[in-house]
Amino acid sequence: MDNDIVPALLEQIQKEFEEQTLNSKKLKSVFSLLKNKKATYLDVNDFAIEVGEILADVLGRNITVDVLPDGKMYFNIAERILNPTMQNNFNLISDFAVDVQSQLNQEANLKLKGQKAELNQDKIDGIINRVSNESDFETIKWILDDPIINFSQSVVDDSIKANADFHYNAGLKPNIIRRLGGDACGWCKNLAGTYPYHSEPKEVYQRHERCRCTVDYRPSDARRQNVWTKAWRDPLKAEKIANRKTLNLKNKE
Ligand SMILES: [Zn+2]
Repeated sequence: MDNDIVPALLEQIQKEFEEQTLNSKKLKSVFSLLKNKKATYLDVNDFAIEVGEILADVLGRNITVDVLPDGKMYFNIAERILNPTMQNNFNLISDFAVDVQSQLNQEANLKLKGQKAELNQDKIDGIINRVSNESDFETIKWILDDPIINFSQSVVDDSIKANADFHYNAGLKPNIIRRLGGDACGWCKNLAGTYPYHSEPKEVYQRHERCRCTVDYRPSDARRQNVWTKAWRDPLKAEKIANRKTLNLKNKE
């Protein structure tokens, strides 16, 4: 295609994103918490908001009506810019969450590896479709701001779900905790609380615009509860089953 703006634009976005993340004091501080074995999901949440804000900022400064052909973010542009950059945010956040979860497991004397969340490609597709369906980029550019941060936060929730699920299947009793963040509205105040995994309302993992409420999971708490119920089963068994499932999938390919 003549005048394909994407390669240079994507390169510039990725370069600026990398510079800003390398220089981020917030990211440095959560990495040092991880190093000192003090990180929790609240730090994963801070990590997610920071990389979300950096990406939103970089997208906002580089993608403007002036650089877009006909002032429109066509599907093939949106797709080739947002897929790699949002998937990169997913990988950064979910990998960090795996490291934190592995430490939390260790602290709780669980010989289990942290589980990695699955990418929610539907959420990325949703943003790509919305932004490219609009004929005037100016009216839709907000979608490259808070929704990008919101997506990044949702990776933390998906990581929590993946691990709570894994622990639940191992016989533990995980609790999901939602706490208020910033100026919380009535809807959020209603949702805040501690829920046994699988009895939490679906909305526990949802956020309205600019919502900074946090979702947390601590396996030590799941373990402690389990002592009382004496329903402790072999967690390694669950891991073996999970590995077997992966093997089965591989065999099917
Ligand atoms: Zn909220």
